[in-house]
Amino acid sequence: MASYESRLATFSHWPLDNIISREEVAQAGFFYTGDSDCTRCYCCGGGVRNWKREDNAWLEHARWFPCCALVQSTLSEELVDVVREMRKNNQKITTDSVNHELTRTQAKQNKDDQMDEMDTSRD
Ligand SMILES: [Zn+2]
Repeated sequence: MASYESRLATFSHWPLDNIISREEVAQAGFFYTGDSDCTRCYCCGGGVRNWKREDNAWLEHARWFPCCALVQSTLSEELVDVVREMRKNNQKITTDSVNHELTRTQAKQNKDDQMDEMDTSRD
């Protein structure tokens, strides 16, 4: 199941092509269990179901299984942190909301960096 093609092959009866494409779900490490819309990550073994139209497969992966080695090696640490934080705050996790949050975090970090520079220049 480590290859994208072998995972994609499990989606022959995927019922949700009009909700979320099998390609996107398989790309994010999941294979189809053949039961309802249950998918499972080949790497961490984590199961995701009840897929929705606004879902982003990678973000769902990071949301439920932030410790998955595949998630950690594919997504940036910053992104995984943002998703984790948003889940904690019960925020809706979509591509748009996560991008928004990521931009905000980066802007804040840049500001912090500038403050650091000001601190050092004073010495
Ligand atoms: Zn996983």
